[in-house]
Amino acid sequence: MLKTCANPHCHQSFEITPDEETFLKKMTFTFGKESINPPLPVFCPECRLRIRTCHRNERAFYKRKVANGKEMVSIYHEEPLWGESDIVFTPEDWNDHKRDGMGQGRAYDFSRPFFDQFANLHKASPRMGMMLLANDNCDFTAGTAYSKNCYLINSSEYDEDCLYGKLYQSCRSSVDCSLLYGSELCYDCFSVYDSYNCTSVSFSKNCRDCLFSTDLIGCSDCCLCSNLHKKQYHFGNKPLPKEEYLQKIEEFRGSHTKMEEMKQKLAELRKSMIHRAVHIVNSEDCTGDFIENSQRCTECYDVNESQDSRYVTVGVNVKDVYDCSNMYLKPELAFETLGTIETYNVAYCLYVFHSQNLLYCEYCFSCSDCFGCSGLRQKKYCILNKQHTKKEYEELMPKIIEHMQSAKEFGRFFPSTLSPFGYNETLAQEYLPLTETEAKERGFYWRTVTDKKPNVTKTIDASDLPDAIEQIPDDVLNWAVVCEATKRPFRIVKQELEFYRRQRLPIPHLHPDERYDRRLALRNPRKLWHRSCAICQKEISTTCAPERTEKVVCEECYLKEVY
Ligand SMILES: [Zn+2]
Ligand SMILES: [Zn+2]
Repeated sequence: MLKTCANPHCHQSFEITPDEETFLKKMTFTFGKESINPPLPVFCPECRLRIRTCHRNERAFYKRKVANGKEMVSIYHEEPLWGESDIVFTPEDWNDHKRDGMGQGRAYDFSRPFFDQFANLHKASPRMGMMLLANDNCDFTAGTAYSKNCYLINSSEYDEDCLYGKLYQSCRSSVDCSLLYGSELCYDCFSVYDSYNCTSVSFSKNCRDCLFSTDLIGCSDCCLCSNLHKKQYHFGNKPLPKEEYLQKIEEFRGSHTKMEEMKQKLAELRKSMIHRAVHIVNSEDCTGDFIENSQRCTECYDVNESQDSRYVTVGVNVKDVYDCSNMYLKPELAFETLGTIETYNVAYCLYVFHSQNLLYCEYCFSCSDCFGCSGLRQKKYCILNKQHTKKEYEELMPKIIEHMQSAKEFGRFFPSTLSPFGYNETLAQEYLPLTETEAKERGFYWRTVTDKKPNVTKTIDASDLPDAIEQIPDDVLNWAVVCEATKRPFRIVKQELEFYRRQRLPIPHLHPDERYDRRLALRNPRKLWHRSCAICQKEISTTCAPERTEKVVCEECYLKEVY
């Protein structure tokens, strides 16, 4: 079925496939004798992704006062963009078991639209200042758990001594990486698995002591290499005697200028190497990119061990999940939802954990059969945070849904005006970037932040820093370095300086945010295009846009070339 996106700024035509219709029939909310299914979406998949992910801030952190009078680092700026004040709790206060979150309960008012009523509840409800779980010394991190001594990382678990970046999983002593899994002593790496002591390596697995390389599998001691499998002592994809190789590495190690030259060469290499159309490994009937061990996942990105899903970005172990992002620990039957752990049958929700049968809820933990609630714990049959009996709930819910249907609200995700974040603070900006004007035209907030003047003894332009790490004095910890690209000042922290010295790496010349963005730019957009394989000319679907000049090849040709 072909539809036109209801967003007036988009109006793209989009398809609703038979599997989507089947899925929505499978997803049922039962209220006594009545049951309802979510309706077909009215927005295109891209608008759905945008409106969902504008509710997730992973990396804009602010020091602020919270409800108990203490100061903490939070993802919520002290001045909410919707103009009224907010209530932010420390994770300890939020997790206090005496708190059930029922303070703001109110009766459903059939004379007002639901989203208006929910907005009042949402703004009056407390929020957890930072999503943190069982960490030790990780105050400047967001969405992290079971980690120790980490700094400015997000969406990460089981890490130790990791600094700057996103999606570190079970990593040790690594700096400036994103999408790093089971690795140690890595620096400036992107999408790297089970590797050790690698610098500026991307899209690689099982590597040791590799530098300035991309697409390596099971390699060690390789530099400026690409598309290699099980090689050692290679420089520029050519074998070298060990001594000669090591000497070549010594020539640039620790010097900012020389290592920048190597990065330039790596950028050149990316233009000439072959690129896999998409990264789909050990999976059947899947489309999208970065999918592993999955079956029947369509247009999914960053998904593994998953089944029968569509339009998912970041999902682990998901089943029957459509139009969702950041879904973890076996969510089953979820629709238009962001940020879950272990849920069953939830739709139009934000951050609901260990819960089932929820509609339009946010920050609800261990709840079931609730509607339009915010911040509840261990509750059942609640509407707008008000406790009802089972009978009342079953009688009210069909009426509420009918009321929402008449206002054209049912089936739409929370409006973007309910997001406490500026568009530019959120994951939406990472996936689907907009300028300030574009974002505001589309009804999103925008956060303009000016860096506070750092409290330092000296401010130095990055280009005036000594070139070699050996020449950097301890005093650099008291300086602010001015980023070469953005002119934003940034600091070097002690743990970081020790890492650079130990690893013989130069001090970065770019602000951490700029480094973060440049790493993410290595990734193709989450969108599929058709083009033909650069070797066999077969038609392929790929995340590499047709106008780009990289050599993109089909999986068969890729395997033939590399293995
Ligand atoms: Zn659209
Ligand atoms: Zn081919």
